[in-house]
Amino acid sequence: MTAPPTRRGRHEQWMRRALAVAATPPGPAVRDAAAPGTPPGPRARDAVVPGTRTPQPPPGRPPGGADVPVGAVVYGPDGAELAAGRNEREHRGDPTAHAEIVALRAAAARVGGWRLDGCTLVVTLEPCTMCAGAILQARVAVVVFGAWEPKTGAAGSLYDVLRDPRHTHRPEVYPEVLAGDSAALLRDFFGRAAAG
Ligand SMILES: [Zn+2]
Repeated sequence: MTAPPTRRGRHEQWMRRALAVAATPPGPAVRDAAAPGTPPGPRARDAVVPGTRTPQPPPGRPPGGADVPVGAVVYGPDGAELAAGRNEREHRGDPTAHAEIVALRAAAARVGGWRLDGCTLVVTLEPCTMCAGAILQARVAVVVFGAWEPKTGAAGSLYDVLRDPRHTHRPEVYPEVLAGDSAALLRDFFGRAAAG
């Protein structure tokens, strides 16, 4: 018998999954890369709306190669994975296709409704204003994120949309979970982008 993980330990375990999602190339592979023991249901797969697939990238450019590696995973109240998403803005040509939005949409499709009460969203980078707004709209209970994003972050950096006392719904927020791993992933990406 092993002792049940502490909250921090559980958050780190979930963040490792989000980091793996971030490191996966954009496209169906992200959604099909199920966590052990929790294959995505048929509705999660259907969350990819027909006709929204983006055109193929130009020859010589890896698919989604320009997409910044950010990953998000939504866990249900029981701790089971509901859905995962990766930043696919370039891949889909969609300004709203941030990792959190992709994951929230798939999670809502999976549960069959927009309310994600009691759910936890784990994301490798501090959410932006758009994603923080979507998190509030979905009534997500807990947000766990990795690295701070001083330029666009809306969970304490530039704004604090998630904990603004004027909102009636405010999720619990846990920042800096495996932040170094998330930052390293981004550094590698931007290093390669600069070299390319
Ligand atoms: Zn965002």
